[in-house]
Amino acid sequence: MGENLNQATRKGFLVDSSRCIGCRACQVACKQWNKLPAEKTVNKGNIENPRDLTPVLYNRIKFIESVDGDKVSWKFFSERCLHCGEAGCIKVCPSPGALYRNSDGVVVFNKEKCISCKYCVSACPFNVPRYGEDDKVAKCDLCHSRITGGMVPACAKTCPTGCLTYGNRSALIAKAKAAKKTLYGETDLSGLGIVYAMDGSPEQFGLPATPSIPLSIFLWKDVIKPLGILGFWGSIGAMLLHYVTIGPKRIDDDDSDEKGVGHE
Ligand code: SF4
Ligand code: SF4
Ligand code: SF4
Repeated sequence: MGENLNQATRKGFLVDSSRCIGCRACQVACKQWNKLPAEKTVNKGNIENPRDLTPVLYNRIKFIESVDGDKVSWKFFSERCLHCGEAGCIKVCPSPGALYRNSDGVVVFNKEKCISCKYCVSACPFNVPRYGEDDKVAKCDLCHSRITGGMVPACAKTCPTGCLTYGNRSALIAKAKAAKKTLYGETDLSGLGIVYAMDGSPEQFGLPATPSIPLSIFLWKDVIKPLGILGFWGSIGAMLLHYVTIGPKRIDDDDSDEKGVGHE
């Protein structure tokens, strides 16, 4: 189950991959709004650039290249945090407020609360969180600072083709379905905040067909941690019970014990 998530009012983001032309204006807009520095990249014989998300690159366009004779074609994929309805990163984070859900249902972060444990990296089914020189979590926050001011995210505002749309998640999904689009993320992990309309399998873009949070995260959060807390309070309870029913331990008892040991 998602954490206190109101599916009716939840905001979402629809990525219609068929409309993407690979211009990467969204990458630039994100850098500009979030004041993220440029990075040196290396040409590896493909026009995809950069080739991975980084602590200062919150979204990027993946180029899926196919060659047929002397013809080269691409499919484009907008890679970013998917704002999962059931977010492994929030679930595992031990520092309250470092990763949290805002009132629109978006997964945002606060670097000042991040303790650099990096648990969120292993809990994310989509390999999204990154850590930079400051050793603090970094990822797309759906332009929290813009949407809380009534604006749309910078990348959606900039996209020239209507590939990226922000709004009420249910309405976006209904519209995409009415247009007979095949969706990814409608119900996975209590619904992803980013829903993709795509042709073909999600695996072609590097997405898992059925994303899930690693079992170890559930064991840690829902079993081991509560048991540890239970054990702690159980010990306190046992001590209190002993105090109430038997009374405090007398110093005489200790003395006689010590003397007994000393005479052996
Ligand atoms: S994609 Fe990863 S970082 Fe983003 S909300 Fe989901 S678990 Fe968290
Ligand atoms: S929503 Fe904002 S932070 Fe996220 S990728 Fe777009 S511009 Fe960047
Ligand atoms: S701005 Fe729009 S069309 Fe251009 S790469 Fe980004 S998503 Fe694709």
